[in-house]
Amino acid sequence: MFEKRRPGAVLFDRDGTLIRDVPYNGDPGRVEPMPGALEALARLRRAEVPVAVVTNQSGVAKGLLSPDDMDQVNAKVEELLGPFDAWAICVHDDGDGCTCRKPAPGLVIRAAAVLDVSPRDCVVVGDIGRDMEAARAAGARGILVPTRQTLREEIQQAAEVADDLTDVVDRVLSDTGGPVPAVSAPWARAMGWSRW
Ligand SMILES: [Mg+2]
Ligand SMILES: [Zn+2]
Repeated sequence: MFEKRRPGAVLFDRDGTLIRDVPYNGDPGRVEPMPGALEALARLRRAEVPVAVVTNQSGVAKGLLSPDDMDQVNAKVEELLGPFDAWAICVHDDGDGCTCRKPAPGLVIRAAAVLDVSPRDCVVVGDIGRDMEAARAAGARGILVPTRQTLREEIQQAAEVADDLTDVVDRVLSDTGGPVPAVSAPWARAMGWSRW
């Protein structure tokens, strides 16, 4: 008897995953949710699974986007998709040597820390290989949702690929693939077992 094992949190890439990818977008008017994003988030929130955003915004380092523009775009994302429990944002670029820009694991680790969960209990959802590498490096479960921008080798290398955000939430909330069986039977509870 295994309980459906819910994740500690689901961490979403922003561009190309939650909203359409408009490179270096600083215009809130151009924010457009991806199909199924609102409902996927609503299902997770109803299930009391924390949701967060882990996003590379190198446009700030490149000077293509001001921090204020970025904040306004993020505010629009919350206006359209509801509040997130955490935002972890890397404003650096390749070559800055930061530890947060995906594929580094820093954003996943930071978001998990803010939410007070282990990265190992997090699911990272993204549209490119960098997202999956960050997940792997942090010890999280990565689920790739390919778009037209996703490279074939990124799909081939992904540990798990979903059709869309609806499929992601189906997988996450009815998880049969989780590596750790939860101890949830009444006898186990009576014996004071816990999965923590
Ligand atoms: Mg993306
Ligand atoms: Zn960074």
